[in-house]
Parts: sequence; structure tokens; C-alpha cells
Amino acid sequence: MRLSKMHLKTLREAPTEAEIPSHILLLRAGMIRKLASGIYGFMPLGWRSLRKIEEIIRQEMDNTGAQEILMSAVQPAELWEESGRWYAYGPELWRIKDRGGRDFCLGPTHEEIFTDIVRSDISSYRQLPTTLYQIQHKYRDEARPRFGLMRSREFIMKDAYSFDKDREGLDASYDAMYDAYSKIFTRCGLTFRPVEADTGAIGGKGSHEFTALSEVGESEIAYCEKCDMAATVEQAECVDDAPTADSVEMLPLEEVHTPGTKTIEEVADFLGLDKSQTIKALLLEKYDEEGNVSDYVAAFVRGDRDLNMTKLVNALDIPEHAIAFADEEKMSKVTGSVGGFTGPTGLHDCIMVVDSELVGQKNLCGGACKEDYHLKNINFDRDYKADIVTDIKVLKEGDRCPVCGGPIKHTRGIEVGQIFKLGTKYSESMGALYKDDNQEDHPIVMGCYGIGVTRTLAAVVEQHHDDKGIIWPVSVAPYHVIITLVKPDDPIQVALAEEIYSQLQKKGVDVLLDDRDERPGVKFNDADLLGIPLRITVGKLAADGIVEFKLRSQEDKTEISKEEAIESAVTMVREA
Ligand code: ATP
Ligand code: MG
Repeated sequence: MRLSKMHLKTLREAPTEAEIPSHILLLRAGMIRKLASGIYGFMPLGWRSLRKIEEIIRQEMDNTGAQEILMSAVQPAELWEESGRWYAYGPELWRIKDRGGRDFCLGPTHEEIFTDIVRSDISSYRQLPTTLYQIQHKYRDEARPRFGLMRSREFIMKDAYSFDKDREGLDASYDAMYDAYSKIFTRCGLTFRPVEADTGAIGGKGSHEFTALSEVGESEIAYCEKCDMAATVEQAECVDDAPTADSVEMLPLEEVHTPGTKTIEEVADFLGLDKSQTIKALLLEKYDEEGNVSDYVAAFVRGDRDLNMTKLVNALDIPEHAIAFADEEKMSKVTGSVGGFTGPTGLHDCIMVVDSELVGQKNLCGGACKEDYHLKNINFDRDYKADIVTDIKVLKEGDRCPVCGGPIKHTRGIEVGQIFKLGTKYSESMGALYKDDNQEDHPIVMGCYGIGVTRTLAAVVEQHHDDKGIIWPVSVAPYHVIITLVKPDDPIQVALAEEIYSQLQKKGVDVLLDDRDERPGVKFNDADLLGIPLRITVGKLAADGIVEFKLRSQEDKTEISKEEAIESAVTMVREA
């Protein structure tokens, strides 16, 4: 491709709303174009890189024996009602109506559609296992679209669904996807980590997120420094601190005047306690399907802990959008809670969810449900009861590893893919059954596997850039080589540049020829911004057949013959 003919507009500055490198650089390099909040289009260079990522995904999926299909992005509401997700998916589901008033949605994911296909096409165990996949636009009306391709409302996803007879079959299908994902992200040049993950609204047990390590990532990962435990912070199990020693007596409950001490820090300071000797109360309200408050929820963790919202909604068995922090004034009228002074003793008419660690800890301090008062020596069972006791806390840095007891660290990453063992959630609710040898019906055992294709593109840029621009890994670069023609009006330079250009094309190298009538400085800056892995500069030594050879990832330049330059370019591409 000749740059003079390419539809390309680079920007000196990105719009101020672009905050992270991938968003800034993809816009500046003219690779993506914003249409509306969270809605992006792909310009020639961006589209080429994206197609290369898709091709890597296709090859690795096909290698596992999975078959590619393409379903419609528009999905009828009836299928979502069957699975129960028309309500459960919440406001992220982009709902539309046709002219007859019938409900549809723009698919955020396709479990219902693939289950529907399989229930009509598969009846016997002989037709299993099978895995189908597609690469397609998905739609999620995200509450906060941001960071460009990272969290958009329209994005491209590869989604795959496996169908097996039994759990063992699912385990094998899952492992095959796990391996394929590892190969895909390695080939895309990402430094990533598979971590145990929550299964969220999709349900089922067993899931991994593939996380590209990055400071700007929205996934927080807890990992152990000693063993290979790694999980998203939402998912990571916690070890409760040891219970208070048996020899410690439960002391009598004591009301203390603690004026103005609304936070854990304030009350702990005021009473000279460690935060771990206090109880933190979190007040929430739960909604029914019409969006009205159906219950109040009080969640309790030790004062030095944080509430884990994912664990709480899982414990309550409700979708995340069916709960929010309470309107404290309204809640107080029903339950006796008092903003800043709420504790587990004295609360009524609400669902009490108590972190498992609190059960064994004696003589803690909590709010007295009375303005400016706390209670000392609160003990579980004696002074309060629970509707649910389970782990609802966040695994913090410095905590003990749930597997080996080693120290926990946190790091951040971008979730580029996730794989789930769904089990029979969809096949049971939607009646996708197969017959065994004895003509008996069983639900098909399913797995589902997603890759954010557009998010992967952004993750690659996050991990591969400098202050001048993008530094594409060869495997996903829009072009492998850029030939910078210094003087497009010098016939000798033109002849050499054209010769290298056509030779590289013949050898299957994706090559750009910068034949624009621009100053060399502009051309070099653009080559750096676009991130083409190899630059071959044809300039004043052209008469001797000598060019300048420079890798985008390195500072040094060398002067070599055109033959050597071509040879090196071909080798670089072949090795990738
Ligand atoms: P997140 O937690 O980031 O919202 P998710 O867990 O809801 O993502 P999945 O349902 O697992 O996402 O979707 C599969 C993949 O699709 C994700 O791993 C991610 O790479 C990508 N993805 C999900 N939501 C978006 C989005 N809004 N924009 C771009 N890519 C997305
Ligand atoms: Mg996910």
C-alpha cells in the first residue's frame, strides 16, 4: 500500500476525553473513529490489525475442532425469557422493539441462541461433543463506557459454546479452550495471566479470566507470592482469622457515648481500639423485578475488612443490578438503622448477612443503632443472629493465601477473555436434551468461552507503546514494514524504494511505502506513531543500494544493502 493513496488521518493531539495510552494512540494513529459514546469504527490500519487478531483466533479455534458459524446480533426476547435472563441481565441489555411492538435485544452474548440451535439439531449422544463459535459484534449498554475500545457499548467478541454428554467431557472441552486461549494471547504478543474468576450472571461453576497485565486494567487480581494461586479480587476466597481464644470470656454488652464518630477510623481512634476489634455495617436495599425496594439488607464485616459486592450478591442469589446502597433515611424507619451508628444488635426487619470471620471473634465494638452511641463486647449469637453467614469480604494485599498461607499481592490487568463451565444451567431451563444408549434423556453439559477481540487490540497497544506511538508486535501489526522514501522527487531514491517495495510484496510481506510529498521528519514521526515494526529508509545512499534499517522497538539504526534489508524483513515476518 502506498501511503499517498491510503485513507489515513493522524492527529497531533488526541481529544481530551482519551485518558489511557491505547485510546489516545489508536485515535492519534487514525486507526479508530468515534461515532458516539462507547461506539467506534475501524479505519484501514485499525481494521487490518483487528483482522489479524481475528485470524489468530480462528486458526487456534479451528485447531481445537471448533466450527465457525455466524448468528444474528438481533435476538428475540422469548429466548431470554426462557433462560430467565430477560430480567436478570438488567439495564446493560440493549433492548429494542420492532414496529409490531415485539421485544428483541442486541446480543451481549449468545448462550440462549446457541442452546436453541443445539436443542433443535442434537438429539443423540452420538452427536456430542461439539463446539461452535462465531466472531461478531456484541452490544452492552454499559453504565460507564470508557477508555475507547476497552469498555465500549458495541464491541467485537469471539464467543464459543461447547456441548458435552457429561462433566468429564466438559472438562476436556474446557481444557482445550484454555490451551487455545493461551496460544492466542501469546501469539498476539500479550503478557497475560489466567486467573480464577467469578461466573457472574452466566452462572455455573468453574471459570478463568485471561488477564493482560496492565496498570490501566479494570480487573484487580489477587495472587500468591509462594504458590500459583491467582484470582480476581471478586472471586478470591479469604481465610478467616483464627477465632478468639477459648480462654477469653464474653464480656457484658456495654453502651458507650461516642459523639460524632461515624467512621470505623473515628470510632476506633476514639475508643483506642484496633480496627479489627470493630464491626463494619453496610446498608443496602434489594429490588424486585419492577425496581421497587423489596427488602433491606445489612451486611457485616470486621472493621479492617472491605465488603465484596460480588460475594454478597452471590450469597443473596440475585443479579448485581438488583441491589444498591440504601437510602439510609428510608431504611432507618423500617429497620432501626442509624447512619454511622448502625451495628448488628438492635436491627430488625432486614436480611442480616454476616461475614463468616465475625462468628468466632469475641467482644467486638459496633454501632448501637442510636445516634452518637456504640456498643462494646458484641458477640455473635448472644447479641445478634444472621440470616446468612458466609465469606463476603475482599482478599486484601498482605492477607494469607487461601491455598498455601503465603502472602497475597494485588496487581491489575485487562480481562481479554473468559472461559466458563456452565454445566446444565441453560440446557435445563431451555430443554436442550440428548438421549443415551437406553433412550433416556439428559441435559447437555455446556461451556462458554469469550474473547474481547477489540479489547485485545487495545490491550496489545497498552503493553506495546512508548511516548512516540505504538510498537506493534509483528503478528498483529497492520503492516510489517514501512519504506520511508526521503525524497520522492529523486528518481534514484524512487527507483530503489519501488524495487524493495515490490520485492517485499512478492515475498508476502505486508509493506507500506511512504511516498507522500512530506518532510522526512513528518514521515519518521508518523512511522513511529503508526508503530510499524520495521522501517527501511531510502535516502542519500540509494545510489549505492544502501538503506537505513530500524526496528521500531529499538533505538539503533544500521546502514545495510537492499538485499540484506529484504532478507531481514522476510526473516522477521517468518519468525513471527
Ligand atoms: P467486564 O467484567 O470487563 O465487564 P465481562 O466479564 O462482563 O467483562 P464477558 O461476558 O466475559 O465480559 O465477555 C467476554 C469478553 O468480552 C470479556 O472477557 C472482554 O474481553 C470482552 N468485553 C466484555 N465487555 C466488553 C466491553 N464493554 N467492551 C469491550 N470488550 C468487552
Ligand atoms: Mg468476563
